[in-house]
Amino acid sequence: MTNSEYLFKEAVKVIPGGVNSPVRAFGSIGSTPRFIKRAEGAFIYDEDDNQYIDYIGSWGPMILGHNQKDVLEAVTEACKHGLSYGAATEVEVEMAKLVCELVPSIEMVRMVNSGTEAVMSAIRTARGYTRRDKIIKFTGCYHGHSDGLLVKAGSGVMTAGVPDSLGVPKGCTQDTLSAIYNNLDSVKEHFNRCGEEIAAIIVEPVAANMGVVPPEPGFLGGLRSICDEYGALLIFDEVITGFRLGIDGAQGYYGIKPDLTTFGKIIGGGMPVGAYGGRKEIMEVVAPLGGVYQAGTLSGNPIAMAAGLTQLTILKENPEFYKKLNDNGEWFFEEIRKIVSDAGLPYQVNHVGSIGSLFFTKEKVKDYDSAKTSDTKAFADYCNYMLKEGIYLAPAQFEAIFLSMAHSREILEQTLEVMKKYFL
Ligand SMILES: *Cc1c(COP(=O)(O)O)cnc(C)c1O
Repeated sequence: MTNSEYLFKEAVKVIPGGVNSPVRAFGSIGSTPRFIKRAEGAFIYDEDDNQYIDYIGSWGPMILGHNQKDVLEAVTEACKHGLSYGAATEVEVEMAKLVCELVPSIEMVRMVNSGTEAVMSAIRTARGYTRRDKIIKFTGCYHGHSDGLLVKAGSGVMTAGVPDSLGVPKGCTQDTLSAIYNNLDSVKEHFNRCGEEIAAIIVEPVAANMGVVPPEPGFLGGLRSICDEYGALLIFDEVITGFRLGIDGAQGYYGIKPDLTTFGKIIGGGMPVGAYGGRKEIMEVVAPLGGVYQAGTLSGNPIAMAAGLTQLTILKENPEFYKKLNDNGEWFFEEIRKIVSDAGLPYQVNHVGSIGSLFFTKEKVKDYDSAKTSDTKAFADYCNYMLKEGIYLAPAQFEAIFLSMAHSREILEQTLEVMKKYFL
């Protein structure tokens, strides 16, 4: 038995499914988790001392590569001053200023501890500001695990959302309307019916939780216009795309200004951080200024802020990083497309910049239904092969591949060689 296998055996006795977040269990590829001991650059190492090229990067945060020395130093330095005070600190002011400077749609920002919290709070803010209750979310987009967002589409677009998890009361999802990604008509139907009651549309500007699904031309702009017409707010969930597609995220990349934005993942540099922000007049409804309550004992934690601030500062000061990262992404995903095409397979490669997915389907993937046509068994076989060969991909078809600044051309080429061995 390997050390990972032993640890998993112990873990399942005391942790549900042996993991603290479900996808880590490797269940959807019929495998079990590698327990990770350490990481460096583009590599992670498991408890059996196997080395892997890591294409998860903690699901996005490690955009500079693992264990980046300046981030590490900032964190160790901050630790010496105390781990938490539950009080206002200078680093929070610096962090907020930097986020407002980097993302033009944001004039005020509040720090929280996860992407889930950021989204939950942004939605409460949108409802408080507009004094409306309904929200629209797109099937296949993930916005964390808060009650109101764990919905599956009802039968027919006109019906209210149905809870997609046990333990979520029907009442919690009755104001969540489901629409189809890349389909403006499905959004307009809701607005035609009850536009005056809709507080906000929330969207991943590049969907990355049904595999990577880019917005089609006109989709995000269309959402902007509909919101403007009805006085609803547009919320971009940039938990993945924020500070990844560029320093100003998907909103900069596509040139669309949302009213509220949520962040997570990269903003914490590997520490548990989320944030939500937007125009001043909207954010002023948040307590203690306004009537929307939201709080957090560890929010703005000095260690977490040190990590995030350092990572964002490095990204800001090295704009050529993004050029290189996105160029690498462009090249890498094109090469993958060539490999599957040379293999005579009709599979789809979707990507934007440094995130992408290989879908095991012949259908063009533009929404949840088309993503779901993927052959997940074939994906599992591929994924397990890659893992055995030292390539650590997200263990599920409907997740993204994440490149980091530490993924050199040489490392990417090694990976492509393994893919060739599998497919050709
Ligand atoms: C990961 C993710 C979340 C949830 O963030 P957590 O930090 O896991 O709570 C929300 N929205 C999107 C788009 C995400 O990818």
